[in-house]
Amino acid sequence: MGEVINVTKSSMPSLEEYTEEIKDIWESHWLTNMGKHHDEFEQKLKEYLGTEHISLFVNGHLSLELTLQAFDLSGEVITTPFTFASTTHAIVRNGLTPVFCDIRESDYTLDPEKIESLITDRTTAILPVHVYGNICDIERIEAIAKKYGLRVIYDAAHAFGEKYKGNCVANYGDASIFSFHATKVFNSIEGGASIFREKRIGAELKKLKNFGIRDEEVVDGIGSNAKMNEFQAAMGVCNLRHIDDEIKRRKQVAQRYLDRLKGVEGLKLPQYKAENPNYAYFPLLVDEKVFNKSRNEIYDLLKQNGINSRKYFYPLTNTYECFHRKFNPDDTPVALHISKRIITLPLFADLKDDIVDKICDIILA
Ligand SMILES: *Cc1c(COP(=O)(O)O)cnc(C)c1O
Repeated sequence: MGEVINVTKSSMPSLEEYTEEIKDIWESHWLTNMGKHHDEFEQKLKEYLGTEHISLFVNGHLSLELTLQAFDLSGEVITTPFTFASTTHAIVRNGLTPVFCDIRESDYTLDPEKIESLITDRTTAILPVHVYGNICDIERIEAIAKKYGLRVIYDAAHAFGEKYKGNCVANYGDASIFSFHATKVFNSIEGGASIFREKRIGAELKKLKNFGIRDEEVVDGIGSNAKMNEFQAAMGVCNLRHIDDEIKRRKQVAQRYLDRLKGVEGLKLPQYKAENPNYAYFPLLVDEKVFNKSRNEIYDLLKQNGINSRKYFYPLTNTYECFHRKFNPDDTPVALHISKRIITLPLFADLKDDIVDKICDIILA
């Protein structure tokens, strides 16, 4: 059985490019705490994304957790259970209560029709996810937030580089976070960023990612340690040089899957409806009643052939053991239905055509 194929493979610059980038660190001995590489990466991201206010973090999760903290929220936050653990944990770890809203069958993002009935006098924010890079119904979500005076903070971990109405997707709402984890479209080994509207949030985040230290003699925040180090930033700067090409190559892989799997009854393919999709994932929805195999059978068959797909996002976060049945997944029936039928297939820039063909052959056999 040849080499194992994983659902993703981290993008890397050449060894020469990276070593050239980090050489000066051996002169400066400046390894972390907002050094030269950190500042350069921040500046380059601002230019690439077209955003005004950005703050870098050691990972995407802490950028979300500390961004929620910076808004000093209380009570309940309306969110989706069809996401990675990070989204829900960031809410709970802030002492807030997640209120789970169902998703749309069309693109798996938060269903704006179902938000208003969940708003109570304790609700302070909405935390939607641009899941798989599918952009939420920003307009309707923000109209609801405005009507009830709620904050909107997007988990944009999957939506790096995408635009909405010609503008960086992270420029909407009060704030958005990106993840630069090794497994994401764009990586800085581990890393994350928060993009926000109000300048004062930047000062708050700067403090919170450095233990709440305001200056040498004043500590006025209960912060964490979430600073991006120089090696991460240097990797980010290198990978940013190649990101457009990476996305172009991802598109070719996704297109090959789409060509091979289109028109098959019982398989729903991703639609990539964003203005400039980043092809972060290839989620395939399997209707066992129509197609001749279930999601789990496809997953197992691929695994037997050395191909590791993922059941993203199964299980729903509102079923996690750590919440001791506090939430009822029957309250989000569409999300529950999708989570039992979805599988994400391997997708990365240099995934070879013959492997894509092999995966499709196994699915269609
Ligand atoms: C990856 C991810 C995160 C967390 O990012 P890390 O950089 O891994 O900490 C948050 N939300 C979603 C939806 C993710 O997929």
